[in-house]
Amino acid sequence: MSIARFYDNCKAKKAGKKGFPRFQKDNRSVEYKTSGWSLHPTKRRITFTDKKSIGEVKLLGKWDIHTYSVKSIKRVRLVRKADGYYCQFAIDIEVKSEQRIGDGELGLDVGLEFFYSDSNGHHEENPRFLRKAEKAIKHAQRQIYKKEKGKNQRRIARHRYAKKHLRVNRQRNEHALRLARCVCKANALVAYENLNVQGMVRNHCLAKSINDVAWSLFRRWLEYFATKFNSTVVAVNPRMTSQKCSDCGTIVKKTLSTRTHKCVCGCELQRDVNAAINILNLAKTRDGQSQSNATGLATSTLVGESLLEQVTRMSVESPCL
Ligand SMILES: [Zn+2]
Repeated sequence: MSIARFYDNCKAKKAGKKGFPRFQKDNRSVEYKTSGWSLHPTKRRITFTDKKSIGEVKLLGKWDIHTYSVKSIKRVRLVRKADGYYCQFAIDIEVKSEQRIGDGELGLDVGLEFFYSDSNGHHEENPRFLRKAEKAIKHAQRQIYKKEKGKNQRRIARHRYAKKHLRVNRQRNEHALRLARCVCKANALVAYENLNVQGMVRNHCLAKSINDVAWSLFRRWLEYFATKFNSTVVAVNPRMTSQKCSDCGTIVKKTLSTRTHKCVCGCELQRDVNAAINILNLAKTRDGQSQSNATGLATSTLVGESLLEQVTRMSVESPCL
């Protein structure tokens, strides 16, 4: 899996381009280790010396490969994407850990109404790139089947379709990365609910929404930036986090459409903010299901009422069309 490999690369502290997660469809690549290629002294050209007859390739774009010694390049990968060929270099150097700017503690609750709600009461807007692009993508997809098989027109239509997808994937990745970086930079402790995203994606009706929210991508970037900023990221069991009062612990039953948490103790919060505070509290008492920081991610499958609740909640808020 490309994401797993990407994540391994991150953990191995390789700098530079790491082979960002992407779908197999756009991932037509050739990989070289330390032989089979040679960089031009100016490092503006690369020659592949194996028998695949790729030959010399000019490197375009903004890049800083010239700042590294040839010896530190451990892997060279040529990747074909919908909009061109990319040359990726995996470089073996120490990653400088960046300075964190705050020692905050943050709990995150994922939803569909918002990308996430945090324990400070902030709601991060949902980008919904896919929704916006959906119409264009669907149109492009239809165009493929209107063209005759094996014809050039069809190839062109397929290419247009792939490019539209590539764009969404890039936006989604950029968005997840940017948010995760901000969160880890400002907080010493970040807690999120350990949702079984894969299990939910298998439910066909919800797949688009959950993909749209890009939660699992965000989670991987959280782990990555936790290492970089030396913060701790904790995954907690989300059981009861939306029902419990974050102030006094009383269980306040809510239907799926109840958006406000109102407790007898006087505590009144937006539903997701209440959940986010509970998530943070669980992490602080180390009551969480699993914990992870730089050393690795313990993934566990959660089965239970809370997950069911989450899933139902999502389907209620985002009816399938
Ligand atoms: Zn209460």
